[in-house]
Amino acid sequence: MKINMSENVIKHSSENPFQSMISRFDKAAKLIGLDESDYNVLKAPQKTVIVNIPVTMDDGKVRVFEGFRVVHNANLGPSKGGIRYSMDVNLDEVKALAAWMTWKCAVVGIPYGGGKGGIKCDPRSMSKGELERLTRSYTDLMFNVFGPDKDIPAPDMGTGQQEMAWIMDEYSKLIGYSSPAVVTGKPIVLGGSLGRVEATGRGVMVSTRSALGKLGISPVGSTCAVQGFGNVGSISAKLLAMQGLKVLAISDISGAYYNPNGLDAEEAIAYRDSNNGTLEGYKGGEKITNNELLELDVTVLVPAAMEDQITEENAERIKAKLIVEGANGPTSASADDILNKKGIMIVPDILANAGGVTVSYFEWVQNRLGYFWTEERVYRRADRVMKTAFESVYAASKEYNCSLRIAAYAVAIKKVAEVEKLRGKFGV
Ligand code: NAD
Repeated sequence: MKINMSENVIKHSSENPFQSMISRFDKAAKLIGLDESDYNVLKAPQKTVIVNIPVTMDDGKVRVFEGFRVVHNANLGPSKGGIRYSMDVNLDEVKALAAWMTWKCAVVGIPYGGGKGGIKCDPRSMSKGELERLTRSYTDLMFNVFGPDKDIPAPDMGTGQQEMAWIMDEYSKLIGYSSPAVVTGKPIVLGGSLGRVEATGRGVMVSTRSALGKLGISPVGSTCAVQGFGNVGSISAKLLAMQGLKVLAISDISGAYYNPNGLDAEEAIAYRDSNNGTLEGYKGGEKITNNELLELDVTVLVPAAMEDQITEENAERIKAKLIVEGANGPTSASADDILNKKGIMIVPDILANAGGVTVSYFEWVQNRLGYFWTEERVYRRADRVMKTAFESVYAASKEYNCSLRIAAYAVAIKKVAEVEKLRGKFGV
């Protein structure tokens, strides 16, 4: 039997992402005086579903993929969260990502709970047909979990509009009529929202502006480095450049590219798009490593690739004045204390990258209304949500005398716990 070796690659993260989430949750819960029963309810996911998905591959053989969907909490509304296709997917990662979605939706004040899904697979090594069969079978197995009023998936790493279109189609087939609101991040012609593709990067830019304002630093003449050049990283880089920041470095899985005079983010996007989606061979900057990028002397560092990039191992060497977390969980809990001591401001993931779920919510609203907004309206409303959320988290950080991260958790946990008390313990 031929074994796909890529399946055996293990991600060496220094910390378990779920433990990282719990350690912040614990700090914030203590700060707001969360009572023990609310603590016990909110720390654990409400629902965890694990499925084995048989897929007939192009060579006629059947492979079985492990798939997950976790609903962390559905107190505020249907659970919302992306689906990730990656060899690194595991239950603890999905549990952490689901909990972050709960806190994220609460921080920005949208009526959703938190969920997340994932399939352990290497999408780049699969054909379009194999990916379609995998996605449809996963949807069949999750039919009782998904639903526009229950649990609403979206894209995450390794998935995009095409997967969402397949999920929408498969779910619609099973219920017998078209249900666009069952997923967000759909192609525009299928009921997607204008502005959704840019939403997360735009939220990163808006958060960066708000944070620089508090630090008394002008964006014009500031510098930034962006790790990850997918949806979030590339759009963040482009929009930060439009705000007057000089982009000194960008990176993706092929490595990092550094230019002390600044590089052209739009040109790099065009290069990536003409080069199979990667920066491999990009000549706009000198090649450095992803770790070196994190340690550059820049005003703003935007980790926008994956979890656990800034850890206790490299935190001491981080020189940025501001970290804006485009990715989910890029900073491990043990790195927080080191960065806080160094006086580095961190706009945490559950605030900084919440522009994506905000516009996903707008997409769902538009689907249910059957009436679509202009791009200008989407941006205006999303920017307002992001600015308001930043100010409420900033105010909480002053009230509790804590970091923006713990303040964001405090704001979110308070809200979800309040609803918990009003509703009772049933939750879903
Ligand atoms: P993506 O798949 O579009 O891009 C990921 C990028 O990171 C790619 O450039 C990839 O090459 C790079 N990358 C992956 N592993 C890497 C590594 N080990 N070192 C360096 N680069 C690496 O994904 P995305 O949608 O941009 O998501 C990135 C992060 O942002 C994830 O943590 C995701 O959960 C989070 N996020 C995404 C959204 C969204 O709307 N897309 C919203 C909120 C949060």
